[in-house]
Amino acid sequence: MSRSDFAGFDSLAIHAGQEFDPATGAVIPPVHFSTTYAQDGIGGLRGGYEYGRSGNPTRTALETQLAAIEGGQHGLSFASGLAAEDALLRSVLKPGDEVLLGNDVYGGTYRLIARVLAPWGVGLRVVDMSDLDQVAAALEERPARMVWVETPSNPLLRITDIAGLARLGHAAGAVVVVDNTFASPALQRPLSLGADVVVHSTTKYLGGHSDVVGGALVMNDDALAEQARFLQFAAGAVSGPLDAWLTTRGIKTLGVRMQRHSENGDAVARFLDAHPGVARVYYPGLESHPGHELAASQMSAFGGIVSLALPDAATARRFAESTRLFTLAESLGGVESLLNYPDAMTHASVRGTELAVPEEVVRLSVGIESRDDLLADLEQALATAG
Ligand code: PLP
Repeated sequence: MSRSDFAGFDSLAIHAGQEFDPATGAVIPPVHFSTTYAQDGIGGLRGGYEYGRSGNPTRTALETQLAAIEGGQHGLSFASGLAAEDALLRSVLKPGDEVLLGNDVYGGTYRLIARVLAPWGVGLRVVDMSDLDQVAAALEERPARMVWVETPSNPLLRITDIAGLARLGHAAGAVVVVDNTFASPALQRPLSLGADVVVHSTTKYLGGHSDVVGGALVMNDDALAEQARFLQFAAGAVSGPLDAWLTTRGIKTLGVRMQRHSENGDAVARFLDAHPGVARVYYPGLESHPGHELAASQMSAFGGIVSLALPDAATARRFAESTRLFTLAESLGGVESLLNYPDAMTHASVRGTELAVPEEVVRLSVGIESRDDLLADLEQALATAG
């Protein structure tokens, strides 16, 4: 039995793509910074590497690891989540094609389609993906080339039935894409539920330490992977070697981090739910969440993102500016707790659109700090805001 025969999630996260250095036996493969590769005679490539944009061993190691943890055949790594999204969108869509998009996705995804691709003739329709009747009606009215969902969604934590969505999308001839950034493959594997492509902002949980921006695509379809890989090479939004290496290092601890994020997320959600100063809590782990049963069936835990509504926008803003351990900052998924006011921060680009986030909502990315400290910080911030 060799190391590659061990197939548990954490074993794959730690070992997939991590071959010992053949020259030295170094257990951690070196970071390859070289932009070019010596050829043994014209076209005589060692290991297939030619030039840093077309391939790099550190990036290959990450791409192997990404494919393994999502249970897919092909992993592709990019300079950012949006670069990965852009490559996927442009490798699938032609002018006249349409994307059916969840009404609660990352604002930048909406912006990319609505403001960058729409002028090139790509159409966009938005529906509530957590309601499959709405999806079926939209696809019946007009087929879409691509169906794109985030589940749990950002920032309202809506849950979509991935298997049901995949059936509807495939019946309409669409490519079904799941942005798995919030759950990560430690908690949810969309390809196994029928999705065609998984998208990640690896900037978030996969990197896990808020120190590297990156993105990824994982898929099984060979032809689709070839198209996306061509665009990765031809447009060039690849991840650099050090970024790829940092992401690989982060992924090795993804399983244990997600466990702790989920435990802390659950504790924070229940604390807020019982607090008189909080109007509403959005967390799929709460039994009162409308998607709770579904989330429990397609996720192994509920993750570390908790959103809450305060009684009004002014209180939400005061609360957002009153925490001490939770840092007021964009992004999510790092070991440290962050707080985001979507209306003016991550989702400012969708203000006034059908994706606008209510002004009284605050999103927490619950880190892996000591639970009592997290709760004490929220308690004092609520007292200050209220
Ligand atoms: N998808 C989700 C769910 C996100 O939250 C983000 C960024 O916040 C992105 C995609 C875009 O990723 P990046 O910022 O790495 O380009």
